Amino acid sequence: MRLANIDGRLVVRAPDGPVDVAEASAGRFGPAPQTVYAQWDAFTVWAGEKGLGGPAPAAPPATDGAVWGAPSPHPAQVFAIGLNYRDHAAESGFGEPDSATVFTKFATSVTGHDTPVALPEGKVDWEAELVVVIGRHCHRAAREEAWSYVAGLTVGQDLSERELQLAGPAPQFSLGKSYPGFAPTGPELVTPDEFADPDDLEIACALESGDVLQKSRTSNMIFGVPELIAQLSAVCPLLPGDLIFTGTPAGVGMARTPQRFLSPGDVLLTTVEGIGTLRTPLTA
Ligand code: ZN
Repeated sequence: MRLANIDGRLVVRAPDGPVDVAEASAGRFGPAPQTVYAQWDAFTVWAGEKGLGGPAPAAPPATDGAVWGAPSPHPAQVFAIGLNYRDHAAESGFGEPDSATVFTKFATSVTGHDTPVALPEGKVDWEAELVVVIGRHCHRAAREEAWSYVAGLTVGQDLSERELQLAGPAPQFSLGKSYPGFAPTGPELVTPDEFADPDDLEIACALESGDVLQKSRTSNMIFGVPELIAQLSAVCPLLPGDLIFTGTPAGVGMARTPQRFLSPGDVLLTTVEGIGTLRTPLTA
């Protein structure tokens, strides 16, 4: 099943066309997209009975002025993982971590698809990431059952202002990665059953002007989605609607020679196989 937040309403992009969830369910679910995660099990049963599951074309979002918001626009918690691809750990000057390196992107940084992001002072870098959205309360989950807690997957950018991120006696990842709009996600949420192998998806980042910046597969993650859910939920209960930014592969601007950062007018295209392309225009 493919879900979107269109003009603030939860929409299923069903095989026969888009379905407004609040209208189709007579108000039982939605219209606010955030509310569905607390009712996720009941919602998926209802959607199955309505025949709304199954593959829909990964159509490019409409250009009719509709606003494609984040699939989970107001998560209670946003987890993010650093150094989770070997090639990115290496380009960052670190060895392979023994356990997940965890920080947060504060929730006010979440935004949606094709939403302009204003660049603050400093050096703003790109990080293409697969983003997990939690669908069931999850505490101390075993790796083997971890996927059952996932509502779906979406595409994200872990935008990062490197000067603030790396300032001070110890790096403070969270603040430099939490300016408004620094956590774009979308365009859609795709449920795990839609993927032949949700642990092995191509991930890429490019500029709309043509340069390919990053290209890898999520199977190259050091800690895959089940392991991340097990490690995070061993400490924090994961709540319906929570996000996990799962880390970025090699190719960030900070690690290039010469270094390269985003400028006003750049447009980032972040793609994950089977989900779609998240478009992020950068402005002054
Ligand atoms: Zn990241």
